[in-house]
Amino acid sequence: MLRPRREALGSEWRFAYLRAIRAAPNANAAAELPRAASSWKETMSIVVMKFGGTSLADADKIRSAARRAIRSQKQGHQVVIVVSAMGKATDQLEGMARQVMRGSAAPKREMDQLLATGEQVTISLTAMALEEMGAAAISFTAGQIGIITDDKHTRARIKTIDARRIHEQLDAGRIVIVTGFQGVTERGHVTTLGRGGSNVTLVALAVALGAEVCENYTDVDGIFTADPRIVPNARKINKVSYDEMLELASLGAGVLHNRAVEFAKKYNVPIHVRSSMNNKKGTMIVAESESMERIVVSGVALKDKLARISLHNVPDQPGVAAHIFHTLATHNVVVDDIIQTVGEDGTAAVSFTADPGDLDDARVACEKLATTLKCDVVYEDHLAKVSVVGVGMRTHTGVAEKMFAALAHAKINIQNITTSEIKISCLIDRAQGAAALRVVHDAFELGGRKKPARKTRKIAPARPGKRSNHTRERPT
Ligand code: ASP
Ligand code: MG
Repeated sequence: MLRPRREALGSEWRFAYLRAIRAAPNANAAAELPRAASSWKETMSIVVMKFGGTSLADADKIRSAARRAIRSQKQGHQVVIVVSAMGKATDQLEGMARQVMRGSAAPKREMDQLLATGEQVTISLTAMALEEMGAAAISFTAGQIGIITDDKHTRARIKTIDARRIHEQLDAGRIVIVTGFQGVTERGHVTTLGRGGSNVTLVALAVALGAEVCENYTDVDGIFTADPRIVPNARKINKVSYDEMLELASLGAGVLHNRAVEFAKKYNVPIHVRSSMNNKKGTMIVAESESMERIVVSGVALKDKLARISLHNVPDQPGVAAHIFHTLATHNVVVDDIIQTVGEDGTAAVSFTADPGDLDDARVACEKLATTLKCDVVYEDHLAKVSVVGVGMRTHTGVAEKMFAALAHAKINIQNITTSEIKISCLIDRAQGAAALRVVHDAFELGGRKKPARKTRKIAPARPGKRSNHTRERPT
């Protein structure tokens, strides 16, 4: 298994430094550092396991997570558990804030203070379950173990982790339980890392502790070739590269927080996404290897809700695009894809896609643009995007052709096409989204043999605000 680099986080060095002092109190500690650090590394094997909200939804599930940790400890590992809030606890806390705020936006600092309580409930209950089963355990909030973040409330980034406190507890034979999804600023304000952020904590801790194993326990068996709710014969993927995972996640397969994957990629930490309900091997998210290139397409994804905003008759001259996207950015509109077509009369049409949730902000921005640029604006909210992803695309041809042919055969009109080195995306009508996903999945023969995809299976309309999700794990 690949090991994170030693310079991973400052804290780790600090810890190694302390070890070096302990090992050779009279010697020059800095000179001792490499030896002390490496011998420490060889004698320990740390497992960091994270359990998502659905895997901790009630007392039985918490006990079963605890049992898993004990089993791992009995196999000779030191065990750290990162927890999410129980079940839908985070959603419920958000709901309470909405009620109190009567529709206006909650102050972000207080939102963090509130949402961080979800995980604080789970750590202590998990520690209790462990103690009840006879294991020594101790729980910590992120603040107690020095997970320091910047001060961007509701989407903070981890700056450093003081791993020392955890190592001390592990060395004393305890299982350590840590709140996922949160940190504190240098000045002691509680922050959160964005919804789904406990995966970021998982990877950051694995890096800071130099863990051998980084496991993400969820309620499905791993990452699938497509969302199994829409494509019944979707198969579990055994191995997927960091880049493929990043593409799949941003294209609608909301499996893992992108930042968790970016972090894992940066420090080369393999993540094992697996089920908390069984002992099957899940999906390994790892660095790209040559053998992966043989598989042209690893997975297909559907972003089932996209809006398109088109500005017609904008002047075709330098600075216009810069002006448009600057205006959108200042209104916090996150732009997905951009399409520009130039007419013959010195004007252009500029369209972009965005999350329908950003439509209100986009309207405000575009009303301003309509005045300054004297252009017409059209808003549409009936689109979806189907994508194929695979590192093998770098070395294989004919992928686009196969995808377009499959869509054509199903009479699905392609409204726009975007590509990257390892993905091809087609903008289509939302009503055809599920069908598009199935035909593309079939075209690349990604399905298992047992249950053929039913071409006309009706799916329940997704609830507003819900993302398509390959593992069906919901942030809670
Ligand atoms: N409880 C938080 C959420 O639901 C963090 C997480 O589960 O990763 O978003
Ligand atoms: Mg959660």
